[in-house]
Amino acid sequence: MPSTKLTSFLNSGLNELKDKGLYNVIHPLEGANGPKIQLEGKELINLSSNNYLGLATDERLKEVAKDAVTKYGVGSGAVRTINGTLQLHVELEEKLAKFKHTEAAIAYQSGFNCNMAAISAVMNKNDAILSDELNHASIIDGCRLSKAKIIRYNHSDMEDLRQKASEAVKEYEKVMVITDGVFSMDGDVAKLPEIVDIAEEFDLITYVDDAHGSGVLGEGKGTVKHFGLSDRVDMQMGTLSKAIGVVGGYVAGSQELIDWLKVQSRPFLFSTSLTPADIRASIEAIDILSESKELQERLWENTKYLQEGLKKLGFSVGDTETPITPVIIGDEQKTQQFSKRLMEEGVYAKSIVFPTVPRGTGRVRNMPTAAHTKEMLDEALSVYEKLGKELNV
Ligand code: PMP
Repeated sequence: MPSTKLTSFLNSGLNELKDKGLYNVIHPLEGANGPKIQLEGKELINLSSNNYLGLATDERLKEVAKDAVTKYGVGSGAVRTINGTLQLHVELEEKLAKFKHTEAAIAYQSGFNCNMAAISAVMNKNDAILSDELNHASIIDGCRLSKAKIIRYNHSDMEDLRQKASEAVKEYEKVMVITDGVFSMDGDVAKLPEIVDIAEEFDLITYVDDAHGSGVLGEGKGTVKHFGLSDRVDMQMGTLSKAIGVVGGYVAGSQELIDWLKVQSRPFLFSTSLTPADIRASIEAIDILSESKELQERLWENTKYLQEGLKKLGFSVGDTETPITPVIIGDEQKTQQFSKRLMEEGVYAKSIVFPTVPRGTGRVRNMPTAAHTKEMLDEALSVYEKLGKELNV
C-alpha cells in the first residue's frame, strides 16, 4: 500500500512546479550527443551540450573504450579500496596530476560526487567556507555535507570576500575559499589572482571547481593554469564529463591532500569506481589535449563566430569570457517561448530561468563546441535572427 503522505507530498509538489511553469520536461536523444542531435524524429543543431571539444563522440576515444571493455569487462567490480582499483585508475590519476601540474590526483565517479567528497573530507564543523554566491549546486551540497559554517560572498566581489575572510579567520579553525573557475550560467571567469592573494593574506584553503575551465582555458589545462597559479591553489577540482567527453570527476593537489582523500572521502571508500571504458577513454582524451591544441583552437574560433554573430544581430550575451554563451532575454515566459521556438525551427538551446538564475535574467544558453561547422552556426544564427524579430527580442 503506497504511503498516502508520500503521494500527496509528491503530487502537490509536482502540481506547484507545473503551475509555475518550472517543471522541466526531459527530451531523450535518439542518437549520440554530437553537434547535431536526433530528437522526436527530427534533426536539430545542438547548442546545449558540455561536450566542448567534441570528444564524447570522437573515434579515437570510442576505439580505446571498446578495447578496454574487451580486456577488462564493463565494470570495475568493487570500490577503490577493496579491489576496484585497476592499474588504469592509477594511470589516469598520474596523467591528471601531470596535466594539472600537481603532485597527485584522485578520480571520482562524477564531478558532482567529487565536490561532495572532497569538500566534506577536508572541512568540518569547526571550520568556515567562503563560497561565491553563484557557485555550482554540487559545491553548495558539498559545503552543507561538511557541516562547516557557510559564508556566501557576493559574486566575484573581492571587497566582500576580503571583509568576510578577515572576520572568519578570527572565529573558525580552518577557512576555505571556494569558487567555480568559470561560472556555468554566465560564462565569466573567477578573479583567481585576487582570490589567491586574499587567501595567502589570511591563510585560507583555496578550492577551484574548474568543470568549465578545463579543456577550454590555459591551453586546455584550466583556469588555474590560465592565470599561472598552479602552485598557489590547494585543490583543483575538474570533471571528465565536459571537455574530456566521458564521465567522472577529480581533484588534483599535493600528495598529502590526495593521500587524505583516499582514506577519508566517502564516495571513494563506499561507491564502485569508474568503469574501464570511462577511464581508458579519459586517458586518451588527456593525451589528445596534451599533444595538440587543434580542438581548443576550433572551439575558440566557433565561440567567437557565434558570439560575434549574435551581437551583430543585436542580442546581449552578457559578460561571458568563455564558450558559455547566454542570450539574455529577461522575462521568464518569453525566454521559455524563445527556446521552444528555437527547437521548432531546428536549434536545441535550453532556456534557463529563475530559480536557476535571478528573476528577470532568463536566458537561452548556447554551448558552441569544436565539432560544430560554420554552416551549422550560420543556420543557428539565421534562426536567431528570425525569432528575434518574431518575438521582439
Ligand atoms: N561543477 C560545475 C561547475 C558543473 O557545472 C558541474 C556539471 N554541471 C559539476 C560540477 C558536476 O560535474 P559532473 O556533471 O561531472 O557531475
